[in-house]
Amino acid sequence: MEFRAKAVSWDDIERWCDEVRKQIVNTFSPDLIIGLSRGGLVPARILSDSLWIKDLLSIKTEHWGITATQDGKAVLRDPGVLNIKGKRVLIVDDITDTGQSMKLAHEFVMKQNPAEVKTATMLHITRSSFVPDFYGEEITEKNWAWFIFPWNVHEDVDNLLSRVLRKESSLEQVTELLQDNFELVIPQKHLKKVLDDFVTAGKLVLKSGKFRLPEKAVVQ
Ligand code: AMP
Repeated sequence: MEFRAKAVSWDDIERWCDEVRKQIVNTFSPDLIIGLSRGGLVPARILSDSLWIKDLLSIKTEHWGITATQDGKAVLRDPGVLNIKGKRVLIVDDITDTGQSMKLAHEFVMKQNPAEVKTATMLHITRSSFVPDFYGEEITEKNWAWFIFPWNVHEDVDNLLSRVLRKESSLEQVTELLQDNFELVIPQKHLKKVLDDFVTAGKLVLKSGKFRLPEKAVVQ
């Protein structure tokens, strides 16, 4: 097996965000939320709604370029000027894995002279060098997986398939490939929709009911 990948459902997202909301609601009263783009955007928007915080900003961090592969160090992409002096700020991301992205964002935000800064993620891996103030669920290092969030399904399945799809394969065979190589379980109906989207986008070729990668997309 290359590594384990786990599909996350919208129910999981709601549960984790609600857990974070419960922890925050009586302990911290942020003036604004900063969502880390791209992974933290949806959780930040959900918390903006459930905590009644309309001021929602975003800054972009980049660390894991291709599914489950780190690109060296985490970087902040063109964060610009944030008008947060004297404000209570909540920084939100999907997951703290190495913790580098949240650490970097936290350091950047602290330099803008806010009154107080707290951090929240839906998932927190125990190995992370940065521990958020609030998180929905803790994952031990032993249970590490690449979590495929609903907003990243196309990108992740595309990256995973380009590693393991070597011959023309039916929907059932693609389902098995993902299970055998990554323990990844995606309901067939959902997977079919994603694969059909790939065909439309030119990421896969469909011939006689079998899918294959276009010639240039095979990763050695
Ligand atoms: P990190 O800097 O290692 O804490 O992770 C930075 C970002 O990469 C996270 O906000 C996620 O968007 C993504 N990421 C890192 N690890 C994972 C993982 N195990 N599953 C899904 N996404 C991840």
